Amino acid sequence: MKDARLCPFLEAPHSAGLFFDFDGTLSEIVDVPSDARPVEGAVELLSRLSQRFRSVVIVSGRSAVELVRWLGDGVEIWGAHGSQRAVDGRVVLTDQAAPYVDVMKQVKGEAEDLLSGENLEGVVLEEKGVLLNVHYRNVPDRNAGHRSVEEVTARLAGQHGLVIHPGRMSVELRPPVEFSKASVVRDVAAREALRAAAFFGDDLVDLPGFDALDELTESGIATLRVGVDSDETPRELLERSDLTVHGPCGVLKLLRALI
Ligand SMILES: [Mg+2]
Repeated sequence: MKDARLCPFLEAPHSAGLFFDFDGTLSEIVDVPSDARPVEGAVELLSRLSQRFRSVVIVSGRSAVELVRWLGDGVEIWGAHGSQRAVDGRVVLTDQAAPYVDVMKQVKGEAEDLLSGENLEGVVLEEKGVLLNVHYRNVPDRNAGHRSVEEVTARLAGQHGLVIHPGRMSVELRPPVEFSKASVVRDVAAREALRAAAFFGDDLVDLPGFDALDELTESGIATLRVGVDSDETPRELLERSDLTVHGPCGVLKLLRALI
Protein backbone atom coordinates (compact mmCIF):
# COMPACT_ATOMS: atom_id res chain seq x y z
CA MET A 1 0.00 0.00 0.00
CA LYS A 2 1.66 3.21 -1.20
CA ASP A 3 -0.07 6.41 -0.31
CA ALA A 4 1.28 9.99 -0.15
CA ARG A 5 -0.72 10.55 3.03
CA LEU A 6 1.52 8.05 4.82
CA CYS A 7 4.69 9.99 3.96
CA PRO A 8 4.95 12.04 7.17
CA PHE A 9 4.73 8.79 9.13
CA LEU A 10 7.18 6.86 6.97
CA GLU A 11 9.72 9.66 6.83
CA ALA A 12 9.80 10.67 10.50
CA PRO A 13 8.35 7.90 12.68
CA HIS A 14 10.43 9.04 15.68
CA SER A 15 8.22 12.15 15.94
CA ALA A 16 4.93 10.52 14.90
CA GLY A 17 2.13 9.08 17.01
CA LEU A 18 -0.41 6.39 16.16
CA PHE A 19 -3.68 6.31 18.12
CA PHE A 20 -6.09 3.39 17.98
CA ASP A 21 -9.56 2.59 19.09
CA PHE A 22 -9.92 -1.11 20.03
CA ASP A 23 -13.32 -2.67 19.20
CA GLY A 24 -13.97 -2.82 15.48
CA THR A 25 -10.53 -1.34 14.86
CA LEU A 26 -8.06 -3.84 16.33
CA SER A 27 -10.68 -6.50 17.12
CA GLU A 28 -13.72 -7.77 15.28
CA ILE A 29 -17.08 -6.75 16.75
CA VAL A 30 -18.52 -9.63 18.79
CA ASP A 31 -21.91 -10.26 20.39
CA VAL A 32 -20.55 -10.62 23.92
CA PRO A 33 -18.16 -7.72 24.71
CA SER A 34 -15.87 -9.86 26.89
CA ASP A 35 -15.28 -12.24 23.95
CA ALA A 36 -13.43 -9.56 21.94
CA ARG A 37 -9.74 -10.15 21.23
CA PRO A 38 -7.17 -8.37 19.07
CA VAL A 39 -7.10 -9.85 15.56
CA GLU A 40 -4.28 -12.26 14.92
CA GLY A 41 -0.96 -10.51 14.41
CA ALA A 42 -2.12 -7.20 15.95
CA VAL A 43 -0.20 -7.48 19.23
CA GLU A 44 3.08 -8.32 17.53
CA LEU A 45 2.61 -5.58 14.96
CA LEU A 46 1.79 -2.94 17.60
CA SER A 47 4.87 -3.85 19.58
CA ARG A 48 7.05 -3.55 16.47
CA LEU A 49 5.45 -0.19 15.71
CA SER A 50 6.11 1.05 19.23
CA GLN A 51 9.82 0.45 18.69
CA ARG A 52 9.74 2.54 15.54
CA PHE A 53 7.24 5.28 16.35
CA ARG A 54 7.37 7.91 19.06
CA SER A 55 3.99 6.89 20.47
CA VAL A 56 1.65 3.98 19.92
CA VAL A 57 -1.44 4.60 21.98
CA ILE A 58 -4.65 2.63 22.49
CA VAL A 59 -7.56 4.78 23.59
CA SER A 60 -10.73 2.83 23.97
CA GLY A 61 -14.06 2.81 25.73
CA ARG A 62 -13.00 -0.53 27.24
CA SER A 63 -11.60 -0.87 30.71
CA ALA A 64 -7.83 -0.49 30.79
CA VAL A 65 -7.64 -3.79 32.69
CA GLU A 66 -9.00 -5.73 29.72
CA LEU A 67 -6.83 -3.82 27.27
CA VAL A 68 -3.66 -4.55 29.25
CA ARG A 69 -4.62 -8.23 29.47
CA TRP A 70 -5.06 -8.48 25.70
CA LEU A 71 -2.40 -6.09 24.41
CA GLY A 72 0.35 -6.31 27.02
CA ASP A 73 2.48 -3.40 28.14
CA GLY A 74 4.33 -2.68 24.89
CA VAL A 75 1.93 0.13 24.02
CA GLU A 76 0.48 3.07 25.93
CA ILE A 77 -3.02 2.20 27.11
CA TRP A 78 -5.87 4.52 28.04
CA GLY A 79 -9.16 2.89 28.95
CA ALA A 80 -12.72 4.01 29.59
CA HIS A 81 -12.42 6.87 27.07
CA GLY A 82 -9.37 8.32 28.74
CA SER A 83 -10.63 8.20 32.34
CA GLN A 84 -8.19 5.36 33.16
CA ARG A 85 -4.57 4.83 32.28
CA ALA A 86 -2.33 1.79 32.65
CA VAL A 87 0.84 2.71 34.52
CA ASP A 88 3.46 -0.01 35.13
CA GLY A 89 0.82 -2.72 34.76
CA ARG A 90 -1.54 -1.00 37.23
CA VAL A 91 -4.69 0.86 36.24
CA VAL A 92 -5.21 4.32 37.69
CA LEU A 93 -8.15 6.69 37.37
CA THR A 94 -7.49 10.22 36.24
CA ASP A 95 -7.94 12.96 38.88
CA GLN A 96 -11.19 14.10 37.26
CA ALA A 97 -12.70 10.61 37.28
CA ALA A 98 -11.66 9.41 40.77
CA PRO A 99 -14.33 11.31 42.81
CA TYR A 100 -17.17 9.50 40.97
CA VAL A 101 -16.41 5.91 42.00
CA ASP A 102 -19.11 5.68 44.71
CA VAL A 103 -21.94 7.34 42.80
CA MET A 104 -21.33 5.13 39.76
CA LYS A 105 -21.51 1.98 41.92
CA GLN A 106 -24.89 3.16 43.16
CA VAL A 107 -26.02 3.91 39.60
CA LYS A 108 -25.06 0.40 38.52
CA GLY A 109 -27.21 -1.13 41.26
CA GLU A 110 -30.15 1.06 40.29
CA ALA A 111 -29.72 0.24 36.59
CA GLU A 112 -29.79 -3.49 37.42
CA ASP A 113 -33.03 -3.09 39.35
CA LEU A 114 -34.73 -0.91 36.74
CA LEU A 115 -33.75 -3.08 33.80
CA SER A 116 -34.67 -6.36 35.47
CA GLY A 117 -38.10 -4.81 36.08
CA GLU A 118 -38.35 -4.36 32.31
CA ASN A 119 -37.71 -8.09 31.92
CA LEU A 120 -35.07 -7.47 29.28
CA GLU A 121 -33.33 -10.76 28.65
CA GLY A 122 -29.96 -10.08 27.05
CA VAL A 123 -29.15 -6.63 28.42
CA VAL A 124 -25.53 -6.56 29.59
CA LEU A 125 -24.18 -4.02 32.08
CA GLU A 126 -20.48 -3.36 31.67
CA GLU A 127 -18.68 -1.39 34.36
CA LYS A 128 -15.44 0.31 33.39
CA GLY A 129 -13.99 2.35 36.19
CA VAL A 130 -16.44 5.24 36.47
CA LEU A 131 -18.31 4.44 33.27
CA LEU A 132 -21.37 2.23 32.97
CA ASN A 133 -22.17 0.82 29.55
CA VAL A 134 -25.58 -0.74 28.98
CA HIS A 135 -25.54 -3.05 25.95
CA TYR A 136 -28.74 -4.20 24.20
CA ARG A 137 -27.14 -6.04 21.26
CA ASN A 138 -28.34 -9.42 22.57
CA VAL A 139 -31.91 -8.45 23.39
CA PRO A 140 -34.13 -10.51 21.03
CA ASP A 141 -36.26 -7.43 20.20
CA ARG A 142 -33.53 -4.82 19.70
CA ASN A 143 -35.94 -1.96 19.09
CA ALA A 144 -37.70 -2.62 22.38
CA GLY A 145 -34.29 -3.08 24.04
CA HIS A 146 -33.12 0.23 22.64
CA ARG A 147 -36.23 2.06 23.86
CA SER A 148 -36.08 0.67 27.39
CA VAL A 149 -32.34 1.18 27.77
CA GLU A 150 -32.69 4.74 26.51
CA GLU A 151 -35.48 5.42 28.98
CA VAL A 152 -33.69 3.93 31.99
CA THR A 153 -30.35 5.58 31.27
CA ALA A 154 -32.05 8.97 30.72
CA ARG A 155 -33.78 8.62 34.07
CA LEU A 156 -30.56 7.71 35.90
CA ALA A 157 -28.62 10.47 34.16
CA GLY A 158 -31.25 12.99 35.29
CA GLN A 159 -31.28 11.75 38.88
CA HIS A 160 -27.51 11.66 39.32
CA GLY A 161 -26.39 14.48 37.03
CA LEU A 162 -24.61 12.13 34.61
CA VAL A 163 -23.91 12.42 30.90
CA ILE A 164 -25.29 10.03 28.28
CA HIS A 165 -23.19 8.77 25.37
CA PRO A 166 -25.02 6.62 22.82
CA GLY A 167 -22.78 3.92 21.32
CA ARG A 168 -23.18 1.00 18.98
CA MET A 169 -26.13 -1.02 20.38
CA SER A 170 -25.35 0.47 23.77
CA VAL A 171 -25.82 3.53 25.91
CA GLU A 172 -23.11 4.71 28.27
CA LEU A 173 -23.48 6.72 31.46
CA ARG A 174 -20.52 8.89 32.44
CA PRO A 175 -19.72 11.42 35.15
CA PRO A 176 -20.07 15.04 34.02
CA VAL A 177 -16.34 15.66 33.69
CA GLU A 178 -14.06 16.16 30.71
CA PHE A 179 -12.35 13.04 29.46
CA SER A 180 -12.47 11.80 25.92
CA LYS A 181 -10.40 10.33 23.18
CA ALA A 182 -9.74 13.96 22.22
CA SER A 183 -8.08 14.85 25.50
CA VAL A 184 -5.80 11.80 25.27
CA VAL A 185 -4.71 12.72 21.73
CA ARG A 186 -4.11 16.33 22.79
CA ASP A 187 -2.17 15.36 25.92
CA VAL A 188 0.06 12.77 24.26
CA ALA A 189 0.72 15.01 21.23
CA ALA A 190 1.85 17.85 23.53
CA ARG A 191 3.84 15.60 25.90
CA GLU A 192 5.75 13.91 23.06
CA ALA A 193 5.94 17.00 20.79
CA LEU A 194 4.49 14.96 17.93
CA ARG A 195 4.93 16.27 14.39
CA ALA A 196 2.50 13.75 12.89
CA ALA A 197 -0.49 11.95 14.35
CA ALA A 198 -2.92 9.35 13.02
CA PHE A 199 -6.15 8.15 14.60
CA PHE A 200 -7.79 4.83 13.67
CA GLY A 201 -11.45 4.39 14.59
CA ASP A 202 -14.72 2.84 13.50
CA ASP A 203 -17.49 4.49 15.49
CA LEU A 204 -19.05 7.79 16.54
CA VAL A 205 -17.12 7.75 19.82
CA ASP A 206 -13.97 8.09 17.72
CA LEU A 207 -15.01 11.43 16.27
CA PRO A 208 -13.50 13.32 19.24
CA GLY A 209 -10.20 11.71 18.24
CA PHE A 210 -10.66 13.14 14.75
CA ASP A 211 -11.61 16.51 16.29
CA ALA A 212 -8.34 16.56 18.20
CA LEU A 213 -6.47 15.89 14.97
CA ASP A 214 -8.24 18.89 13.42
CA GLU A 215 -6.78 21.05 16.18
CA LEU A 216 -3.32 19.56 15.68
CA THR A 217 -3.56 20.29 11.94
CA GLU A 218 -4.08 23.95 12.76
CA SER A 219 -0.82 23.98 14.67
CA GLY A 220 1.04 22.58 11.68
CA ILE A 221 1.10 18.90 12.59
CA ALA A 222 0.55 16.31 9.86
CA THR A 223 -2.59 14.32 10.61
CA LEU A 224 -4.35 11.27 9.23
CA ARG A 225 -7.87 10.09 10.07
CA VAL A 226 -8.35 6.42 9.28
CA GLY A 227 -11.92 5.14 9.17
CA VAL A 228 -12.36 1.41 9.69
CA ASP A 229 -15.27 0.32 7.55
CA SER A 230 -17.71 -2.45 8.46
CA ASP A 231 -21.47 -3.06 8.08
CA GLU A 232 -22.08 -0.99 11.20
CA THR A 233 -19.65 1.91 10.71
CA PRO A 234 -21.56 5.21 10.73
CA ARG A 235 -21.38 7.25 7.52
CA GLU A 236 -20.47 10.34 9.50
CA LEU A 237 -17.17 8.78 10.54
CA LEU A 238 -16.34 7.61 7.02
CA GLU A 239 -17.12 11.06 5.63
CA ARG A 240 -14.57 12.56 8.01
CA SER A 241 -11.91 9.96 7.26
CA ASP A 242 -8.89 10.75 5.07
CA LEU A 243 -8.44 7.07 4.41
CA THR A 244 -10.79 4.12 4.73
CA VAL A 245 -9.69 0.55 5.37
CA HIS A 246 -11.88 -2.53 5.58
CA GLY A 247 -12.14 -3.97 9.08
CA PRO A 248 -9.33 -4.74 11.54
CA CYS A 249 -7.52 -6.76 8.86
CA GLY A 250 -7.41 -3.62 6.72
CA VAL A 251 -5.88 -1.78 9.69
CA LEU A 252 -3.14 -4.40 9.96
CA LYS A 253 -2.45 -4.17 6.26
CA LEU A 254 -1.99 -0.41 6.55
CA LEU A 255 0.23 -0.82 9.61
CA ARG A 256 2.45 -3.29 7.78
CA ALA A 257 2.97 -0.58 5.18
CA LEU A 258 4.23 1.68 7.99
CA ILE A 259 6.93 -0.73 9.13
MG1 LIG B 1 -14.69 0.92 18.02
